[in-house]
Amino acid sequence: MRSLHLYYRQLGTALTLCMILFCSTRLFNHHRAAPEISPKDPAPSIVSSTPQPAIPTIEETMLTLGNGGSIQKLLTGFGVDKDTALNIATTFSQYVPHKNLKAGQNFSVRYVRSEQGIKIESFQAQSSIDQKVVITKTDGRYIGKAEQIQLTPVVHVFEGKVNSSFYSAALKAGVPTKLVQEAVDVLSYVVNFQHGIQAGASFKILCDALRNDKGDIIQIKQLRFVSLQTGGQDHKLFAFTQEGKVRFFNEKGESVVRSLLQTPLNAAQLRVTSGFSNNRRHPILGYCRAHKGVDFGAPTGTPVLAAGEGRVIFCGWSGGGYGNLVHLRHSGGYETKYAHLKSISKGIRPGAVVSQRQVLGGVGMTGTATGPHLHFEVILNKCHINPMKVSALPSLKLTGGILKKFEAVKSTTQQEMVSFVHTKATGL
Ligand SMILES: [Zn+2]
Repeated sequence: MRSLHLYYRQLGTALTLCMILFCSTRLFNHHRAAPEISPKDPAPSIVSSTPQPAIPTIEETMLTLGNGGSIQKLLTGFGVDKDTALNIATTFSQYVPHKNLKAGQNFSVRYVRSEQGIKIESFQAQSSIDQKVVITKTDGRYIGKAEQIQLTPVVHVFEGKVNSSFYSAALKAGVPTKLVQEAVDVLSYVVNFQHGIQAGASFKILCDALRNDKGDIIQIKQLRFVSLQTGGQDHKLFAFTQEGKVRFFNEKGESVVRSLLQTPLNAAQLRVTSGFSNNRRHPILGYCRAHKGVDFGAPTGTPVLAAGEGRVIFCGWSGGGYGNLVHLRHSGGYETKYAHLKSISKGIRPGAVVSQRQVLGGVGMTGTATGPHLHFEVILNKCHINPMKVSALPSLKLTGGILKKFEAVKSTTQQEMVSFVHTKATGL
C-alpha cells in the first residue's frame, strides 16, 4: 500500500511537471507567433495584396526640341499620352506658332510619374527675350498664359588674356561673336593684330546689357569701351554718340578711325606672332627692311581688306616675287601693296575706287612665298615706311563743348569699369 501511495504521489508530481512544461511551451510558442510590438520597435514589413496609394512626387526636367521635332512628339516620346500631348501643343501654339519653334528650344517640365504614364503639371518655355509661356494644369485642364520676364539694363565687363589670338581669347572670355567683331573693327585702326599684340596681352570690353530675373546676362547691347594692354601700350577706346551715330575715340578725344588700317585682314583668323609655334614655313613675321613690308601669316583665303579708301593703280600678276598683287593709291601721298594673293576680288581693276575694308582678295602664296601670308607694304611719298609705324592722322578730333561732353562720358565709363570690378570682387 505504501508503495502504491508513493506511486500515486510520484505520478501526481510528474503530471504537475508535465502540465507546467506544456503550458510554458504553449506560452512560449504563442509569444513567438504573435510578438508584441512596442512603439520603439521598427515597423514590420507588411505584405498586402491591395496596392497602397502612392504619394505623388513632382519631378522636373528640361526637354529640348530636336531637328524637325514638335511639342507633341517631344511629349509622347517622354511618356505623355497622345491626347494630353496634343492638348499642350495646341495650347502652346496659341502663344508661339509651331512654325516659329526652332531646334534647340528648351521646355521646362514639371510632372508626376504614375502607372498610367507621365502626367504633366506644368510646361513652360521662353518665347522671346522678355516673355515666357507657362501652361499649367488647373482642374484637369491645361491653361496657358504669357508671363513677362523682368529685364534690368546693366553694364557688363568681359576681360581676358590673349594667348594665341585676340579673337579666340575674347570668345573664350564669353564675348558674343558680334561684339568681338565690333571690338576687332575699332581696334584694327590702331592695333596690328599679329605683330602689335604679345601673348599675355590683356583686354577689357565693357558693354550695355540686359539681365533677367535670375541674374543672367541675356542680351548684349552696345559696345561702350574696349581696352587692350600689350607691350607697354595701353589702348583705351570709348564709344561716344553724336546725333545718333556711335563713334570710337581714344582718351584724348581723337577718333580711332585712321586713314589706314593697321591690320588689313580679317583679324578673326590672325594669330599673334609670339603665339605662332608653327612658323618654320615662314620664319620672317614682322617688318622686314629687306623686302620693305610686313608679313601677316594667315590661312589661305583669309579676306584681305583695303587699308584705306583709295584707287587701284595696279592689280594682277607682278614680277619681283609678289605673285598676285593689288596696289592702291590713297590721299596724303600714301600707297599700299598687297602681295602673294591667291585670288583678286571681282571689281578690283585698275582705276576702281575702293573703300576702307573693301575685300581686295584672299590670302595665298603666289610668287616667292614659302607659306600662305599677306605681304603688306606702305609707301609714303614714294618711300617705303614701316606699316607698324604709320601714324596716319585721326579722321576727327573732338574740341570745345563736344570734347567736354566726351570727357563726361569717358569719366562715367571709367567709373562703371571700377564699380563692376568692385561688385565682382565682393561677390554681390
Ligand atoms: Zn613679305
